[in-house]
Amino acid sequence: MIEFQAVSKSYAAGAAGSAAVQAIDGLSLKIERGEFVVVIGASGSGKSTMLKMINRMESHDAGKILLDGREIYSFKVRDLRLRMGYAIQSVGLFPHWTVERNIGVVPHMLGWSKSKISDRVTTLLQLFDLDPATYRTRWPHELSGGQQQRVGVARALAADPDVLLMDEPFGALDPVIRASLQLEMKRIHQTSGKTIVMVTHDIDEALLLATKIVLLDGGKVVQVASPLALLTEPANQFVVDFVGRGDIGIKRLSLQPAKGLARHQARQPGPKLRADCSLREAVSYLVMHRLASVNLDDGAGAHAGVLHAADIFSQLRPSVPEV
Ligand code: ADP
Ligand code: MG
Repeated sequence: MIEFQAVSKSYAAGAAGSAAVQAIDGLSLKIERGEFVVVIGASGSGKSTMLKMINRMESHDAGKILLDGREIYSFKVRDLRLRMGYAIQSVGLFPHWTVERNIGVVPHMLGWSKSKISDRVTTLLQLFDLDPATYRTRWPHELSGGQQQRVGVARALAADPDVLLMDEPFGALDPVIRASLQLEMKRIHQTSGKTIVMVTHDIDEALLLATKIVLLDGGKVVQVASPLALLTEPANQFVVDFVGRGDIGIKRLSLQPAKGLARHQARQPGPKLRADCSLREAVSYLVMHRLASVNLDDGAGAHAGVLHAADIFSQLRPSVPEV
């Protein structure tokens, strides 16, 4: 769907004497349709530049970027951008337009009818937990930072683009709202089949959302891997350090469902946990309740085996069990 072939980009030396910067250095990467690619890396590693090159907000100076096999420079820039929703942390809502007009900007450009745009705005505001009657006529400055960000993501989704580019879209949100929006994005991805490329510097966000994580350093790809592979087969020490040396094991547990280690045993006296909770949640529960084992439940009330703490600590090579 989107392919980088040996792409490089440098920013020229500034008039004020700043040196030239190689922001992206020989980047090659294939992003398949329907993937949720999360780009992580330290500040200045080239994440935003990489994203902006996809919709030509920045140009590249070497290599090729293809969309569905076509050089992005063979598209009219307007056509390219209409196919790609773009949401950024600093939001970029038009300050003199209402929420409704902000969200409807791309549908309007595409010539949708007024009533269709209005229906779409209603749907999106509801999706992001903003009461349409209250918020559609508000101005951006009348919204909290978190509400502005949600409107920004709603705007990016408005015309149902194939591709969604998001640059730290949840950056300024408090943890509770952030967690709920992350789950909403995951659901949108799973139900819509959209191709999403998202930038974050939050490794936990990347592990939660990505089908594929791209770790950048100094404009170069350090590793491309699934969340679990990044934790279990880090390419080098840089990856280990970036992911967080101390709690890499706990992070691993958060990617594995408890049911993968269930023993096929009859129900025992005592409490139960949902079988689809993560091993991380299960460990927390076992520790908190001082248990050596706990029943698992399939969520519909049926017994789904017994999870033993000992099995969690004795698993040598974690792998994702069949769900
Ligand atoms: P990230 O999003 O990972 O923080 P960026 O892609 O924004 O990184 O930046 C990569 C490098 O390019 C940094 O060294 C940054 O200072 C530089 N850079 C980014 N944008 C510009 C620009 N418009 N002009 C000059 N240098 C830039
Ligand atoms: Mg950035």
